[in-house]
Amino acid sequence: MKRHPLFVEGKLNAGKCNDCEYIRFPRMDYCNKCQSMNISDYLVGPKGKLMSYTISFSKPMVGGIKPPYPYAVARFDTENGNHIDVFGAILSQEPFEDIKINRDVILVSDKLLVKFKMGSD
Ligand SMILES: [Zn+2]
Repeated sequence: MKRHPLFVEGKLNAGKCNDCEYIRFPRMDYCNKCQSMNISDYLVGPKGKLMSYTISFSKPMVGGIKPPYPYAVARFDTENGNHIDVFGAILSQEPFEDIKINRDVILVSDKLLVKFKMGSD
């Protein structure tokens, strides 16, 4: 199965099912809602909202990030008015005071990890 890049042109490389319209990130070659193989490219972002986060003190498996580092779930609006929730790392330094729930996040392109930086209010 083909591995798709996480980002295209600074946006999330999601896939949209042409049969049931389900939007999925990361993009796969099949729909996990209706099992269709009829998937189109669908780019989302680069701006989203921080929904939740936690600080990790363990070594990450990918990405070469040094602990402690914040991990987040951010919500991104799609063109059709739906939302997708995306898990990724926040680019921030201790004591992480810039991180605020509901504040904007902006995607930062990376090959291995989904990364966000905090936007301003
Ligand atoms: Zn589908």
